[in-house]
Amino acid sequence: MSRLKIAVQKSGRLSESSLKLFEECGIKISNGAGTLRVIASNFPIEILFLRDDDIPQYVEQNVADIGIVGENMVAEKNKNVEMLEQLGFAGCRLSLAIPREENYQGTDYFANKRVATSYPRLLGEYFKKHNISAIIEEISGSVEIAPGIGLADAICDIVSSGSTLLTNGLREVETIMKSQAVIIANRTISSDKRPVLDKLLFRIKAVKNSGENKYILLNAPREAISGICKILPGMKSPTILPLAEEGWCSLHSVVKEDEFWERIDQLKKAGAEGILVIPIEKMIM
Ligand code: ATP
Ligand code: MG
Repeated sequence: MSRLKIAVQKSGRLSESSLKLFEECGIKISNGAGTLRVIASNFPIEILFLRDDDIPQYVEQNVADIGIVGENMVAEKNKNVEMLEQLGFAGCRLSLAIPREENYQGTDYFANKRVATSYPRLLGEYFKKHNISAIIEEISGSVEIAPGIGLADAICDIVSSGSTLLTNGLREVETIMKSQAVIIANRTISSDKRPVLDKLLFRIKAVKNSGENKYILLNAPREAISGICKILPGMKSPTILPLAEEGWCSLHSVVKEDEFWERIDQLKKAGAEGILVIPIEKMIM
């Protein structure tokens, strides 16, 4: 099998989670300090460590077959690559922010203002869509200090918790796009590498499904079971086992993490006791 080349951010907010994903897929990568290329010992892949800005281009040009990068970067670079899978980490948004004390009524605020950003294409499109003529100041980093040092009146940058904005006296006023890490692929991956990609995607999906789901076990009186089954979504048929105690059962099912707390309350009300919630390592559908 030919080796699949994967572009991963060398260091930054995507790198650790990207490497963790490979580890969870059972792929062994020894990440020697400073190395820019690493070959996995038990899976036919080669990792190329790059700056995230360069990943869409390298994937388009077939330097790498696939890459892990933020949707924000994919949209900004606008390269001819295929989006294969959202990965559920590095969640953030591209937003406009202005000095905290400024009065803000709407996007007209930005008319003739200077806005600093590393996302000139996305910001340009946004202003065009809203019919605003603003001046875009393209800078490559530390965007949030631009208003404070007199380089710009506002900024357009990636926000997650908003704490960086806060410490720089800024406030978020508009969201341009939401983003998370994704896998992008070259549009013409050779047929000898396809099976490797399919195998990798299969494992990634199993890891993703497991993260979104919990295995739950609970005990309940036999007469409560049908009510409880109506609350537990997703599973075609939960497992129900009799307990040694007369009239009691143990019920097992899989619940989505985001629906989890809400369901737990409903389950307790319906008569469930001794509820256990267990992480799932892999889930193959
Ligand atoms: P590089 O040196 O590779 O160019 P960088 O400094 O441009 O790194 P990072 O700050 O590591 O990039 O962010 C990489 C990606 O992580 C972003 O493009 C975005 O998709 C995502 N991300 C998630 N949360 C945040 C955040 N709070 N700030 C910045 N990026 C975030
Ligand atoms: Mg970058």
